[in-house]
Amino acid sequence: MNAYLTVDDGPNNVMDEMLDYFVQEKIITIFFVIGQRIEQQEKILLKALQQGFILGNHSFSHPVFSQITLKQAILEIELTEELLNRLYQKAGKERPAKLFRFPYFDQGGENAVELEKCLKYHGFVNLAQTAQQATNITCDFDFQEYLIPQQQKKYSEIIQRVREKDFSTHNSNEQRQIIL
Ligand SMILES: [Zn+2]
Repeated sequence: MNAYLTVDDGPNNVMDEMLDYFVQEKIITIFFVIGQRIEQQEKILLKALQQGFILGNHSFSHPVFSQITLKQAILEIELTEELLNRLYQKAGKERPAKLFRFPYFDQGGENAVELEKCLKYHGFVNLAQTAQQATNITCDFDFQEYLIPQQQKKYSEIIQRVREKDFSTHNSNEQRQIIL
């Protein structure tokens, strides 16, 4: 069994610190990055690729996909793909897998079926092979750490949820990855 930690909405101003920590702890991490931040923060992203981290597509401007047109949605995905491909090229790295995560886990409402086709067409894959949606990376456990700054959750509650979660149900015979 493999477990992957996923971090959304990068790159941001704490990414450098995160990279150091994950390298030190040897944690495989996938950063789902927002396309419009790529060029401005190219340096830190190149560093992440050099260190062996994986970058995934998290759309160009982080919209709610059910509230935009299909055309806009596809553009959101494709623009970010171009930027990611360029970045990988610059780093001299092969993309290990094309990964996509919808902002807010919103799969596009009435465009969901068409978007799924689009993602397949572009060669996106899912890490969790048993998932029904083949190409949309959700997660098995959401830390909900983003609720802390909004004061909807306390840090102690987050830790408590992690402690209570029984990961042993994901046994090694399952062809499955844990995605956090
Ligand atoms: Zn996000």
